[in-house]
Amino acid sequence: MKSDILTDAVVPEDAHDVKSQARSFANEHIRPVAAEYFESGSYPVDVVEAGRDAELVAQEIDPAYGGLGRSLAEVVATAEEFFRADAGIGLALMGQSFGTNIIEAFGSEEKKETYLRSIAEYDQRTGMAISEPDTGSDLAGMETTAHRDGDEWVINGEKYWIGNGISGDWITVYVRTEDTDDRHGNHSLLIVPTDAEGYEAEHIPEKMGMRASEQAHITFDDCRVPAENLIGERGDGFRMVAEFFNHGRVRVAAQGIGLAAAAIEEAWDYVHDREEFGRTVSDFQSVQHDLAEMRMEFESARALLWRAVEHVMAGEDAERWAAMAKAKATEVAAECAETGMKLHGGQGLLDENRIARVYRDARMPMIYEGVGAIQRDLIYRNY
Ligand SMILES: Cc1cc2nc3c(=O)[nH]c(=O)nc-3n(C[C@H](O)[C@H](O)[C@H](O)COP(=O)(O)OP(=O)(O)OC[C@H]3O[C@@H](n4cnc5c(N)ncnc54)[C@H](O)[C@@H]3O)c2cc1C
Repeated sequence: MKSDILTDAVVPEDAHDVKSQARSFANEHIRPVAAEYFESGSYPVDVVEAGRDAELVAQEIDPAYGGLGRSLAEVVATAEEFFRADAGIGLALMGQSFGTNIIEAFGSEEKKETYLRSIAEYDQRTGMAISEPDTGSDLAGMETTAHRDGDEWVINGEKYWIGNGISGDWITVYVRTEDTDDRHGNHSLLIVPTDAEGYEAEHIPEKMGMRASEQAHITFDDCRVPAENLIGERGDGFRMVAEFFNHGRVRVAAQGIGLAAAAIEEAWDYVHDREEFGRTVSDFQSVQHDLAEMRMEFESARALLWRAVEHVMAGEDAERWAAMAKAKATEVAAECAETGMKLHGGQGLLDENRIARVYRDARMPMIYEGVGAIQRDLIYRNY
């Protein structure tokens, strides 16, 4: 390849420094252990600690609460680099502060001081519990309830796929608190410590990809939290989460770009090394065209991503741009992984080869923060 596929040419200049730090970190701390963590499926505690030391974790939290105050562009640049190195470890690193944007945008001063600082300064870990075993895509249809009893909320129900639901310190939980005809006005957000009575969490069964990241099945059985743990206004949960997803989805798009870059690199190296029929496989025109196709799709998706970053940062038509970037980049990642597998022949099937990990991992970002059909609904709605 003539040039670095994750060039910083399309990245705003103020994100170049952090991008270069993220790349060095990924080369030193993520790549060398990626296969090992994939195989063991264990949580990469040492890498996360190194990420904190390198100031590459929980980057977006406001300096007023002990954070680094990095922009969305800086976080996106980091995600591209981390996910190129390894998606499972990348998700563990990026997920340390998942959901804190909501507290930053809608939480009271007291909540920001307590909870944002707990992540930024005291190395706590958090997550966001929206999805349920029976409902994933239908945000307005989530059934876990919370009702007021004196000065407490009492939560009952189940959440599924929840990042950091087991070893996190506290989780932002999306609950049904109202029973009105307005489907979009029935949910609220509560902060729930993971050691609260009535909170039980267990690991979901083994996943095919992103094995170094942790997701939980949580059960709430009369789980009580103080009334003041409500974030923002009662019944405003749907709106808050929808807005949060605008930022979240461009980050997920960046994850797709990192994965696509990994697939292209692996495919390129393999076909230029493999010799058959008295030549390298890369001499076949159809193979060259496969590589050309991957690159065209990659560059289109990446251009869309960085335009979406601009729109989301400016708050201009954010929902459509975030949805377009998320759908395109994550689907391109899966397509590049598929072509990468084809070009590896039987070698692609061996777990020890990076392309096999990329292929498995690339399925995941297409799903979280909304499957492709949901993104297309949003694009059409905001046309
Ligand atoms: C690795 C990983 C990490 C995750 N982390 C979290 C987390 O931290 N917190 C959290 O809350 N959730 C998390 N999730 C859950 C994720 O957000 C849901 O899996 C996702 O929203 C899809 O929900 P579902 O799996 O229930 O699929 P379903 O909603 O059951 O959808 C299944 C399929 O039905 C079809 N479909 C659904 N709706 C429509 C529609 N409107 N139009 C057309 N077709 C449709 C689509 O083909 C879709 O793929 C995570 C998931 C994964 C895989």
